[in-house]
Amino acid sequence: MNEQIKKQRRQNKKQEKRFSLFTKISIIVFLCCILLIAKIGFQLFGSISDTMLSDKGSSFSQVTHAKNVPKETSKRFESETDWQLILVNHSNPIPENYQVSLTKLRNNQSVDSRIYPALQDMFDDMREAGLMPVISSSYRTAQKQQSLLDEKITAYKKEGYSDNEAEKLARKWVAPPGTSEHQLGMAVDITSLDRNEQEPSVIWKWLLENSYKYGFILRYPEGKEDITGTIYEPWHFRYVGGQAAREIMERGICLEEYLE
Ligand SMILES: [Zn+2]
Repeated sequence: MNEQIKKQRRQNKKQEKRFSLFTKISIIVFLCCILLIAKIGFQLFGSISDTMLSDKGSSFSQVTHAKNVPKETSKRFESETDWQLILVNHSNPIPENYQVSLTKLRNNQSVDSRIYPALQDMFDDMREAGLMPVISSSYRTAQKQQSLLDEKITAYKKEGYSDNEAEKLARKWVAPPGTSEHQLGMAVDITSLDRNEQEPSVIWKWLLENSYKYGFILRYPEGKEDITGTIYEPWHFRYVGGQAAREIMERGICLEEYLE
């Protein structure tokens, strides 16, 4: 009888061992499946996911950088600088075949993917400095630019200006399609969030002093209207890369003068 019980116990132990091995293997297989699914999901959606730029996102910034900047773009970001200095103004329209690869921000704005890491860094540091910046305008299509110009012309006409006068005045404020830097995806209009009481001028002052560190310049400075062909716009910042931005700031010049 005792022998029988012992035998039974031994068998039970064996079964338990087998069961626990089976459980372990099942868990490992399950975890592998999860990892595989996560990897596929990341490859499918990682490169097109929205970024955290419009929200407070310092802790996310490093991750989203890696996720949103394709490898070949990162390389170009470091080695080639020509794309950073493309000049677009009233007499230098955007090239007809100009292609732009965009990174979409959370508030539905988009920028050239190559400038996104620098922009995120700048926004992180502004927020750390207690500012609440927001991008009110960034990449625009030619159609969007045309509709902005049309709106401005209509507004001047309503004020009583003739068709010609209205168009002339409107063009001082809104660049005609093909001549706006916003079509490059490398220009951003930055202001303060509506819901807080922070004056936009506080943000613009910070940008004026610091944006060059991230490769951005105040594109239409006061006193350079004759050269840029655009009125002073304290909110409009353009990415030109770190080296150019520093030199432009130190010499107190505008992009047109830098490129002369
Ligand atoms: Zn602008």
